[in-house]
Amino acid sequence: MIPLVHVDRQMQSMKAEIISCVAEIINSGQYVLGEQGRLFEKEVCQYLNSPYTINVANGTDALVLALRSLDIGVGDEVITTPFTFFATAEAISRVKAIPVFVDIDPVSYNMDPKLIEAKITNRTKAIIPVHLFGKSCHMEQISKIAKAHNLYVIEDACQAFGGEYNGEKLGAIGDVGCFSFFPTKNLSTFGDGGLVVTKHKKVADRIKRLRHHGSEKKYFHEEVGYNSRLDEVHAAVLRLSLQKIDQWNETRIKKAGTYSTLADLEGYTLPQLVKGKEHVYHLYCLEHNRRDDLIQYLNDQGIASGVYYPLPLHLQNVYKKLGYQHGDFPVAELKSKRLLALPMHPFLKEEEQQYIIEQLRTF
Ligand SMILES: *Cc1c(COP(=O)(O)O)cnc(C)c1O
Repeated sequence: MIPLVHVDRQMQSMKAEIISCVAEIINSGQYVLGEQGRLFEKEVCQYLNSPYTINVANGTDALVLALRSLDIGVGDEVITTPFTFFATAEAISRVKAIPVFVDIDPVSYNMDPKLIEAKITNRTKAIIPVHLFGKSCHMEQISKIAKAHNLYVIEDACQAFGGEYNGEKLGAIGDVGCFSFFPTKNLSTFGDGGLVVTKHKKVADRIKRLRHHGSEKKYFHEEVGYNSRLDEVHAAVLRLSLQKIDQWNETRIKKAGTYSTLADLEGYTLPQLVKGKEHVYHLYCLEHNRRDDLIQYLNDQGIASGVYYPLPLHLQNVYKKLGYQHGDFPVAELKSKRLLALPMHPFLKEEEQQYIIEQLRTF
């Protein structure tokens, strides 16, 4: 079976370096909030060209801490997309704010900026654009709307590490940006990890305090916070991976180019080709009318594929209480029935990809 992602191949490629880092960490006796974490934060600041980054335990916590650091809470409204991983909306609900959804653009699959203004009320505090599948949102339009209405922009860049918009790194464009280092993400470790990036010193200081039990000075607590930190081992793996991320993303972009040879085939709608690193193909998703038959066919030929996402968030059981109906976001609902993800990762072999393309043609 050709899997969707091959995280073990990525880790194997760095195994010797990782083992020697782990041995050093064992000897250091410093396992949480130590030198590796500090260096990783510093190196990511340089990479993203942003003044502050804070390591946290995972991408969901990054979003929760971002919201908390901006004092977004009970009854506040946050505008986002219904076509994303659940954690985006879950974080909004976790701080007792209300997720307000807008439909997506049919080509980019990202939130449609034209639909945002109609959803702004006097309780709206922030917009969370999600760079879905690694494709950048239209940040210029979103930033303009946010500025006009005095709203914060929190980028969910969990699927888009290393991606860019107009030459700026995704995550570092809005007020706050959030990343996940879950094993399948573009920049990842063999466990959980996350990061918050911000331009604002006040926000950075607050997140540092929140991730560590609301404490600035050991055993003195200013507020109720979290235990949300990145272990030294993961920080070390991420430092090694950060050196390779550009090369890995370029390989993904090249492989997306290879898949685009399917463009002449009837029945397939491929992701729009974009310039530079506007898309870093965390997932390579295409559309087909007979999506479910295609999944079955590929599976029979030994090729895994995935559905991102089978049920938009406004139709999830947990959000019944928000009162949305079928038909409220027709584009998201349609795409949830048409999209499938093909195997895509930097370690996908050329002959594997040629076999996948051959089978797509045969279907
Ligand atoms: C993975 C992901 C998250 C959550 O990250 P975790 O590290 O799994 O908590 C949030 N938003 C999006 C869009 C993601 O893909």
